[in-house]
Amino acid sequence: MLIGELAASLRVTPKTLRLYEERGLIASPARARNGYRAYSADAILRARLIVGLRGIGLSLDAIEGLLIEFDAPGGSLRRALAGVLDERISVVSLQVAVLQGQLDDLEARYRALIDTPRHRPPGCVCGALNQVCACAAATVQSA
Ligand SMILES: [Zn+2]
Repeated sequence: MLIGELAASLRVTPKTLRLYEERGLIASPARARNGYRAYSADAILRARLIVGLRGIGLSLDAIEGLLIEFDAPGGSLRRALAGVLDERISVVSLQVAVLQGQLDDLEARYRALIDTPRHRPPGCVCGALNQVCACAAATVQSA
């Protein structure tokens, strides 16, 4: 299969496939008599695998690590990918927890702002800033 055909079938650009080749993720394909890359069935499967792994958000570095494990004697891609996904789940779970904390904080500040007593001056945002309000005293002093 030629690079344009393979790229189209995987919905990537030929440039992407050449990048994978340069990174050593795909073996350099044999060249047809006209110099065009001719991908073997194995190379097609490997390219499909890499595109699929990119599709679940793995970096080329992560994919390279997976393929090294897979290509090693007794290597299991399933086992290696399970390890990578487990690690990603931990990282993303932590990010979700941090974002949830930020959301809770913003909601609390918003509630404090809209619950500001009406007698306070319009410039008072002390509730949202988690500060003890001194606005009324300042208003009294300036009056
Ligand atoms: Zn205030």
